Amino acid sequence: MNIHEYQAKQVLKAFGAPVAEGVAITSADQAEAAAKQLPGPLYVVKSQIHAGGRGKGKFKELPADAKGGVRLAFSIEDVVKNAKEMLGNTLVTAQTTDAGKQVNRLYIEDGADISRELYLSILVDRAYGRISFVVSTEGGMDIEAVAHDTPEKIITVVIDPTTGVTEADCATLSDALKLEGDAREDGKSLFPALYKAFVEKDMAMLEVNPLIVMENGRLRVLDAKVSFDGNALFRHPDIKELRDVTEEDAKEIEASEWDLAYVALDGNIGCMVNGAGLAMATMDIIKLYGKEPANFCDVGGGAGKDKVAAAFKIITADPAVQGILVNIFGGIMKCDVIAEGVVAAVKEVGLKVPLVVRLEGTNAELGKKILNESGLAITAADDLDDAAQKIVAAVG
Ligand code: GDP
Ligand code: MG
Repeated sequence: MNIHEYQAKQVLKAFGAPVAEGVAITSADQAEAAAKQLPGPLYVVKSQIHAGGRGKGKFKELPADAKGGVRLAFSIEDVVKNAKEMLGNTLVTAQTTDAGKQVNRLYIEDGADISRELYLSILVDRAYGRISFVVSTEGGMDIEAVAHDTPEKIITVVIDPTTGVTEADCATLSDALKLEGDAREDGKSLFPALYKAFVEKDMAMLEVNPLIVMENGRLRVLDAKVSFDGNALFRHPDIKELRDVTEEDAKEIEASEWDLAYVALDGNIGCMVNGAGLAMATMDIIKLYGKEPANFCDVGGGAGKDKVAAAFKIITADPAVQGILVNIFGGIMKCDVIAEGVVAAVKEVGLKVPLVVRLEGTNAELGKKILNESGLAITAADDLDDAAQKIVAAVG
């Protein structure tokens, strides 16, 4: 689960990380009051969307030479002017699709005088089976280019889980970031605080880009991007509350309400499968025959008729879907239950695209009978290969 920058900063602040004062707003009427709460004279107006690269992003509705999604403002009037220009418009960044994301919220922040922009992230490092810090002196808006062109400027520090961040780790990180004086002192508390936040809140990723050294020599978390391990959210009701469903794919939200493992993809063959492995194999075989899956969908082992019908409706609601492949191996799940769910869903939402169903395993014959007797235009397939070829041919 992802959260907004202003929320991430609140979470990190609670662990003692230095962040600027700021106020989140959702309408331009609130801009003046928000700015008045800050010391000034420098303010930053920041688009709150679940995507990075906002500074270099472009608003669709504004002229090409208009400023991006993170703007400096030099007076309260300037804050208000920028807020009016940004709110409600669509920001396209290197991390969004071409459709961009609508900016429904701004974070008005006390501006910092920056001396240096650094990069810091914390992640679960699969190579070491530990949590690692990844840092670079070359922070700011071009870290992807740094990683590509000068990978030696990106330094990884692996943390021992039994000790946490040690003084020696802090020294290594500070050396890597060339921190001196007050900034080096700040690092001694900041690095362990970020690590503690990461572990205690079950984060999957924490990226501070940039971490800045201010003109006054102190460190500040200037940008913060945090994602949490969805499987651990039940332990963190406070974090769960930060979820902003307007930032998520509507089909994925609906699917999560039904406890379906659904991921929207770019292709046009909708898939409904039971079991993650079978779902992956189904996607692979669709690709093998030259088409792309529209989604990953695992209805799980014990799904009932209603859940199957819900999955079917979510898949058909995607306008990109030109054909559907239902591939079920009935083990715990019975094929007749799947067939009933499919028939019920088709009767409710209609069937505007070809549907190929492959049923195998427990009660497969009964399932096929239900489909055949339904009077619906459903193509039965004998095995996975046959099913994939049939749906690819039907979509054309
Ligand atoms: P991103 O583009 O989505 O990564 O958004 P950031 O929060 O990282 O902001 C982009 C850039 O705006 C930063 O790299 C800074 O150069 C600049 N910026 C953001 N906040 C401030 C600030 O308080 N003062 C100054 N001078 N620049 C800022
Ligand atoms: Mg940034």
